[in-house]
Amino acid sequence: MKPFRFCPACGTAIAEPEPERGSTCPSCSRTWYRNPAPTVGAVIVRDGKALIARRGTDPHEGRFDSPGGFLEAGEDALAGLRREIREELGVGIDVDPSDYIDATVHTYGDEDDYVLALSFAARLVSGRPQANDDVADIRWVGPDELDDVEWAWEHNREDTRRALQRGT
Ligand SMILES: [Zn+2]
Repeated sequence: MKPFRFCPACGTAIAEPEPERGSTCPSCSRTWYRNPAPTVGAVIVRDGKALIARRGTDPHEGRFDSPGGFLEAGEDALAGLRREIREELGVGIDVDPSDYIDATVHTYGDEDDYVLALSFAARLVSGRPQANDDVADIRWVGPDELDDVEWAWEHNREDTRRALQRGT
């Protein structure tokens, strides 16, 4: 989230946050941090190729990433990932904690919100993937094609490479 200029609890003007300490409201003493919002993404692998999604919305509309999205409040990470994949591609996936690839913190959007992007490898178990929701198009790519893709975020390339190396 962008730095708050006013305390979200009481509306008092607050100072620019320190990177590690956040910003403490002089009126109600609550402290506000620039914590990242968690996102989940799935690198779906089949027959040596990975599914990548062209973004249909900003930020980075037209560039590619792994399908997925923001977790809802209180949502289990893998349940949220299955929900997002169902919404965006209309398919069911097989994914479990051992499919974890990595977690990357990066900025998102015009206001430089922070996100914590959790990436998992996954396999299709039901349905045919079709672009829905905020996915404009999908492609299947092999390891040799990764350097030519216009990725939305640099970690997408490395996550996809690592999922393909696992050969799931
Ligand atoms: Zn306050």
